[in-house]
Amino acid sequence: MLTESSILFNKEISPSYRHMRLSASEGFVREAAPGRFVMLRVEGTTDPLLRRPFAIFDADASSGGAVFEILYRVVGKATAILSAKKEGDVLDVLGPLGKGFDLAVPAAEHVLVGGGVGLAPLYALAKELRAASSTVRLFAGGRGRDDIVRAEAFASLGVECHVATEDGSIGERGLVTQPLTRHLESQGAKATIYACGPEGMLRAVAKIAARHALPCQVSLESRMACGVGVCLGCVVGGRRAAPQTPDFRCVCSEGPVFDANEIDWGSA
Ligand SMILES: Cc1cc2nc3c(=O)[nH]c(=O)nc-3n(C[C@H](O)[C@H](O)[C@H](O)COP(=O)(O)OP(=O)(O)OC[C@H]3O[C@@H](n4cnc5c(N)ncnc54)[C@H](O)[C@@H]3O)c2cc1C
Repeated sequence: MLTESSILFNKEISPSYRHMRLSASEGFVREAAPGRFVMLRVEGTTDPLLRRPFAIFDADASSGGAVFEILYRVVGKATAILSAKKEGDVLDVLGPLGKGFDLAVPAAEHVLVGGGVGLAPLYALAKELRAASSTVRLFAGGRGRDDIVRAEAFASLGVECHVATEDGSIGERGLVTQPLTRHLESQGAKATIYACGPEGMLRAVAKIAARHALPCQVSLESRMACGVGVCLGCVVGGRRAAPQTPDFRCVCSEGPVFDANEIDWGSA
């Protein structure tokens, strides 16, 4: 679906992090399952030439018109342009795209692990799981306080939040995998894990899940150009049963969410 969406707000929520709400159609909101993403053209010119992918943080048609939201970190040219957009500006939006989280995996508890802006696709997931009265726990990590964005939005859904930062400026000092491991070791109940964040964090979470024999879904944020499976710029290695068979996964069209066991973490 290719649409033009008006910006309803675009506000700084932490140094370098912004929260943007855009208008949408009801059809877009219906299609915006947790974990899916949009490709945004940030300027009407050829610079930057390529659209940029962003997870759908939230999508809602329940009050006052259909909208969707993204959380983004300003890291380069396109996100800097995006950060200067004002209410009323219009963006060209392609989406919702990709395959989101599988919510049908039974679990006594749903454990969400987000690193920095990797929290973005987890909010819509938490919202849907909480709407079904599921127990949801969030482990949010980052370098420092500024990277723990919108944790209060998760808390207001009734999600228990555990925060870890490398500099100890908020929450426990250290990596988010520390409280995650402690939690999984302390409770006997079976959890399903859903994670999004930097590759190193995802690799570590996949390893922890495998050690505890827990299902784990990861949302990958490989760099991508087309978003629809044509350019194959975003492929990562998969783990096919037969070791000598080449196996590649196209993150935009087969993902961005994968079962962690499908990914060859040496190549991701
Ligand atoms: C499916 C998907 C969902 C995403 N969701 C979000 C989101 O919700 N919020 C958000 O802030 N970002 C998200 N990203 C990443 C986002 O697309 C990039 O940060 C953005 O394209 C950067 O564009 P830029 O022109 O500002 O930076 P560029 O000039 O393209 O790059 C600036 C710097 O950022 C690095 N970089 C760019 N893209 C990535 C990436 N995908 N992974 C790691 N490093 C990268 C570059 O190597 C470079 O060092 C997502 C990516 C994917 C694939």
